[in-house]
Amino acid sequence: MLTLSRVSRRYGETIALDGVDFVVPENTYMSLLGASGAGKTTLLRLIAGFEEPDQGEISINGERIDGQPTHLRDIGFVFQNFALFPHLTVAQNVAFGLRYRTNAPLTNETEIKDRTEEALELVGLTGFGHRAVSAISGGQRQRVALARTLICEPRIVLLDEPLGALDANLRSRMCDELKAIRERLGVSFLHVTGSETEALTMGDKVAVLANGRIMQTDAPDTLFSHPGNADAARHLN
Ligand code: ATP
Repeated sequence: MLTLSRVSRRYGETIALDGVDFVVPENTYMSLLGASGAGKTTLLRLIAGFEEPDQGEISINGERIDGQPTHLRDIGFVFQNFALFPHLTVAQNVAFGLRYRTNAPLTNETEIKDRTEEALELVGLTGFGHRAVSAISGGQRQRVALARTLICEPRIVLLDEPLGALDANLRSRMCDELKAIRERLGVSFLHVTGSETEALTMGDKVAVLANGRIMQTDAPDTLFSHPGNADAARHLN
């Protein structure tokens, strides 16, 4: 279970996060819904350790992770723009994390190959390993980015607007696949989006972030029928 307690972060005069209390339970698809500037990316960056909170605590299963270096947190991050290495093949991109992770780099080539094939199979890209990432579609790049994250077996996977760069058709397919992959792995996903439809369809639970505060966290049905306050309701109209 990931827990944020009274987490705040400011940039000069801008308060990006303002005393956020937030829990992502085990084995859960959690959507985090918020308008542009609500603080979604900042929240992910603090969890991943790219930045530290000014105040508050972040923990996983009771163990504080704020202050720990990123590579020791065992957290997966899938970036909106995929952030793949264009000069590497699909398999090289996927294996990258295993080879170069600072805590325990893997050097056994057979194990790297087997785990890469498993990760590619998981995201429906069996047989694509030798391709150049420049020669595959946007949806396939998104899967490569996901495989590269999942191969390191993170404790939680953070997805920053993962469907933002995809067209409507691909988006709906990826929605189903992301849910299926998460269920198969049994790990929690935290999926950040500005789209109500996406948040409500994807999430077992949906949290609404506005002006750096969590306004409501509920199951999608409850949130849709009983938005708990005006700020949360504004996101569901
Ligand atoms: P979007 O959906 O547009 O990416 P967001 O919900 O992810 O928005 P954040 O990127 O977390 O929002 O930004 C929250 C607030 O903090 C915004 O007002 C933003 O301008 C500000 N902010 C974020 N990062 C920085 C930074 N490095 N320096 C200054 N201000 C920042």
